[in-house]
Amino acid sequence: MRDEVALITGGARGIGKAIALRFAQEGYKVAVCDLASKCDDVVQKIKDKGGQALGLSCDITDPLMVKEMIDQIIAAFGRLDVLVNNAGIAQDNLLPRISDEEWLQTINTNLTGTFYCTRAAIRPMLKQKKGRIINISSVVGLRGNAGQSHYAASKAGIIGFTKAIAREYGSRGITANAVAPGYIQTDMTAHLPKEYWKDILNSIPLKRPGTPEDIAGVVAFLASADAAYITGQVIAVDGGLM
Ligand code: NDP
Repeated sequence: MRDEVALITGGARGIGKAIALRFAQEGYKVAVCDLASKCDDVVQKIKDKGGQALGLSCDITDPLMVKEMIDQIIAAFGRLDVLVNNAGIAQDNLLPRISDEEWLQTINTNLTGTFYCTRAAIRPMLKQKKGRIINISSVVGLRGNAGQSHYAASKAGIIGFTKAIAREYGSRGITANAVAPGYIQTDMTAHLPKEYWKDILNSIPLKRPGTPEDIAGVVAFLASADAAYITGQVIAVDGGLM
């Protein structure tokens, strides 16, 4: 075990779960939060392998819950070294059909949630004079996607936010980077029709969808000592799609 503590939001399933398991494997103490899904499974898996994990229920769109979550992590582990802003939602709709509610829900979860978690996590990181913020954006935030204007706006917003934080806190020992996944096999993409997958795979040079583990490896690298001189970057992990 190492002393460092990592928080992964949306860590009960999909990409977040793979990141949580990877960090545990690397010896971090891991905190995971989720909304409806229970973190019990991922926490148990980590404990079974001799790691330390804390599962928290937190809606990242609620600033008070987010503050309480960070307080609970500090109370349990005494520090917070890595924040992975992974929790997110995707909704598909053409522009005229996007309701105010749908737009706000997407922006509030993906972008405002990232802001709330980073704002709360930055205080312990500043005290430690050390921290890693890794935000999960999307290739859709880099290149857009028909039917996902709200999702694209939220993910592009995350990129601007990451770059600003990188400039604001670089001198305080804190790095901020974004990872932009392509098409990854999780519940989020499970509903896509077979025909759509066929077209997507044709446009991916590596000719396969990504796995949650493909993303987890890059996130673990960005948190590692090897990435000490990298900040303000967006790394596409997309099989060459971009
Ligand atoms: P999933 O839908 O499989 O999981 C999303 C996770 O986020 C769930 O654990 C979910 O919780 C959690 N979550 C959603 N809203 C909130 C909230 N308000 N508060 C706390 N937790 C919340 O998604 P993926 O694993 O596929 O995606 C993870 C991230 O990667 C997202 O940000 C997504 O946009 C991004 N991404 C995914 C791609 C893909 O192809 N899959 C491609 C590009 C980016 P619950 O289980 O409780 O619903």
